Formats: sequence, structure tokens, C-alpha cells
Amino acid sequence: MDGKLVQDTQMAVNKGIFDKCYRFDLAKGYISSGLYPYFRPIESAQDPVVVMYGRRVIMVGSNNYLGLANHPKVKEAAIAATMKYGTGCAGSRFLNGTLDIHVQLEEKLARFIGKEAALIFTTGFQVNLGVISALVGKDDVVVLDKLDHASIIDGCRLSYGGLRKFRHNDMEDYERVLADSKGKGTLTVVDGVFSMEGDIVNLPALVKIAKKYGSKIMIDDAHGIGVLGKTGRGTAEHFGLEKEVDLIMGTYSKSLASIGGFIAGDKDIIHYIKHFARPLIFSASPTPASVASVSAAIDIIESEPERIAALWRNTYKMLAGFKGMGFEVGLTESPIIPILVGDDILAFKMAMRLQEMGVFVNVAVSPAVAPGKALVRTSYMATHTDEHLDIVLDAFQKIGKEFGVIQ
Ligand code: PMP
Repeated sequence: MDGKLVQDTQMAVNKGIFDKCYRFDLAKGYISSGLYPYFRPIESAQDPVVVMYGRRVIMVGSNNYLGLANHPKVKEAAIAATMKYGTGCAGSRFLNGTLDIHVQLEEKLARFIGKEAALIFTTGFQVNLGVISALVGKDDVVVLDKLDHASIIDGCRLSYGGLRKFRHNDMEDYERVLADSKGKGTLTVVDGVFSMEGDIVNLPALVKIAKKYGSKIMIDDAHGIGVLGKTGRGTAEHFGLEKEVDLIMGTYSKSLASIGGFIAGDKDIIHYIKHFARPLIFSASPTPASVASVSAAIDIIESEPERIAALWRNTYKMLAGFKGMGFEVGLTESPIIPILVGDDILAFKMAMRLQEMGVFVNVAVSPAVAPGKALVRTSYMATHTDEHLDIVLDAFQKIGKEFGVIQ
């Protein structure tokens, strides 16, 4: 090839890489028609009422289930840790980034979850990337529920092992997949509470089948911790199956009022993950403020069980309210209540009308849910009052009728 041809070819290739960005106009179309419910700036804390565009809006799109993200004691703990340790750790847990409060939080989380050891990461997403890729080698298989969270799927992509999926919460299909994977090391990874649909994994059946085929179990309890179980320990506590689950993963970005995540299990497994999880080793450790917030949040969860009771009272009120009006909410059994609408544009329209009426909701479209299964996702906090919730139900009744979703 002559020099000019090489140069021309390289230019064509270099231009090509950005072509898709210039061509991508789907989101721009929704933005210009005022139907884009993403990246909306909030000007206040994640409370039951937030400020958006200078207006007060009732928030039913937050994962701050226990209402702790703006709790005075949690904020004081974050401020005190910042004053003592500064704003960042300037390095990974592996090297200079481990503080005494990281180690203390690991001990506290292990005790809280009821496992021998715990390991903390900087985000929940990184926990799933790090744990799955560290444990699943080239002769192993990860077995997933089809509706598992994106971070679990990406963890599998980073591992060298095989990936098999079973139909959502379908235990017959789970058994078929495990039977097919006989002879391999298998790790079953499931959400405890499914993040968009709000339903709970059928853990008793899953444990039985996993035992039969010798599969190890990891639960992503991002939406279970602080929500399920008598004392908020999550899905395993809810079913009384703490001992049968090998690994429990949690995030701080929901009930634990901060940002970060952890994995809890037997100490030898945690020790191994600590030395092989690349998102742990090659990324900076959680800030002092986040670590201290989580520690304070756990103290409140343990000393104020009435928060979990209030969360469930609000959940039952909303479930009854939506069902009574004729909305389809699927199989949810948690403070995540989806309104199933199917069509993406209808979901966007509903969310924007609700915003005009002073209610913040989330919209999930593909790939967060299956194509054609768009939903308006609502979620509740212990700190919502009846007055907030009645306003939300009222607004839904109006727009449900306006868009022909209910009669
Ligand atoms: N797992 C599930 C089920 C989640 O919903 C999320 C967050 N949406 C994550 C993992 C990732 O957690 P984080 O926000 O802490 O990165």
C-alpha cells in the first residue's frame, strides 16, 4: 500500500469511531419534544419532597427507602469523618487507601449480615464486577436470572467463565440450566428484590435446587437490605435462609444512605476476592464521608425498627391504592411499585405529566426492561406521609384516565 492510501484508510477508520455519536438522535428527539425523563437536576436532598426547577415535587423515584440520606446523625457522621480524614483516600484499598474506618465498617457489616467477613468497594456496581470476575474461572459457569441487574451481567462479561440464564424467577427453568451445567463449578447470582419489577426471588425453591446440583449462591441485595426481613437484614432473613446463601452483596446507595457496596461471606472466600477483584485493587477506596454515613445508617436501622414498619405501611397503602384504581403493577412485593404500561412513549408522557403535577417518577425502557415492557417505576420511603401519598395517588388517577391506562 502506498503512504497516501494508508493515511486515507486511517482517516476513514478514525472518523468512523464517532459516526454513531453524530447519528444518535433518538434521545435528542425526546429532549426537543419535552418527553425526556432522564438526568433531571434536583436542587435538594433525596427527601419525600424535593426541589426541581425551583418547584416542590413529591419524590416517588428514590431508593432512599428508610429516609436516611438526609438524616442529621448520618450527615454529622459524614462531616466528622471528613474533618478527621479529609475528602478522599488518594489510593486503592490495596495500597494506601485503607483507613481504620474501612476495616471497622467491614467488621460491622459482617456482623450485621451474619457472615464471617465482609469487604467494601467504592460502588455496588464494582462489587458485582469484582466478585464475579474474581470467582468465575474459565471452567466455571455463572447462572443468572434473566432480569438480574446490569452490573451482574457485566461482571459475567469480565469473567472467563460461561454464562447461562434462566427465565425470570422460573425454578423449573433454573433446574434445567443447572442440570445442563453438571460437572462445572457454578455460581448462581440473583437479585434479592428485582430492581425494576419489585418482586422477590423464590429463594426457598432456588436453595433446594442449588443444593441438589452443588451450585453456590450469591444474592445481590441492593434493594433488600434495610427493606426485607424483620430487622432489615434482607432477602435471606426474610426467608430465614441466612445460612444457605453463600455470598450476600449490598449497596450503600439505597437504604444505607451513601455510595459504595460490600460483599459478605466466609472469611477465606472474602480473603480470596480481596486479592483477585480488579475493581477493588485498581480503584480508589470509598471516601471517609461515605464510610462514616453507612456506619451511622446501620446504627439507626438497628435502633429504630419503626422505620422499616413505616416503609411497609406506606408500601401496602400504595399497593392497595394502585390496584384499587385498576393499574397493572405486576408481581411486586416490595416498596418498588412499577406501573406497567408497555409503550415507551406512553411511559415518557405519563412521567412528564406527573412532573407537571408535582410528582417525580422514574421511567424504565429497554434495556432496563424487555423491549415493549416499559414501566413507570415508583418507590417509597419510610418518611413519606399519608398526605404525600394521597397526592401521588390522586395524580396517578388523573393521568391514568387521561392516557386511557385505567378506566
Ligand atoms: N445491583 C442492583 C440490583 C442495583 O439496583 C444497583 C443500583 N441501581 C446496583 C447493583 C449498583 O449499585 P451502586 O448504585 O451502588 O453502584
